[in-house]
Amino acid sequence: MVELHEDEFSRTDCLNCANCCKTTGPLFTQKDIERISKHFRMKPGEFIDTYLRLDEENDFVLQQVPCPFLGSDNYCSIYEKRPKACREYPHTDRKDFHKISSITIRNTAVCPAAYNIVEEMKRRLK
Ligand code: SF4
Ligand code: SF4
Repeated sequence: MVELHEDEFSRTDCLNCANCCKTTGPLFTQKDIERISKHFRMKPGEFIDTYLRLDEENDFVLQQVPCPFLGSDNYCSIYEKRPKACREYPHTDRKDFHKISSITIRNTAVCPAAYNIVEEMKRRLK
């Protein structure tokens, strides 16, 4: 999977896409919230009230998509501080990839790179 992931992303320019930032957005961990709120010189509670909500699984997610930190040029305005989930998306190079297959299938509908990686995996497994 790491090989397929690296191969696909060597051809993929996320700046021409940003579909994940436009349509889904990440989960925010407590560490993400602390780091990003500090970046904005906001209190974590103020950051949460402004940008986040709790989803059905009690995880902090964006109140709205597209992500408010996405620029019209598809650059992330908090790139260095972005949530861990953004850094790892679409998670196709994870060691425990086999444990997140339902997430990956969902991601193929959002991320063209994840779609291509899964298609290539299927081709090689035939
Ligand atoms: S924080 Fe940045 S990378 Fe993450 S969804 Fe928003 S714009 Fe995209
Ligand atoms: S959806 Fe996939 S290809 Fe598009 S920007 Fe996100 S990670 Fe990159």
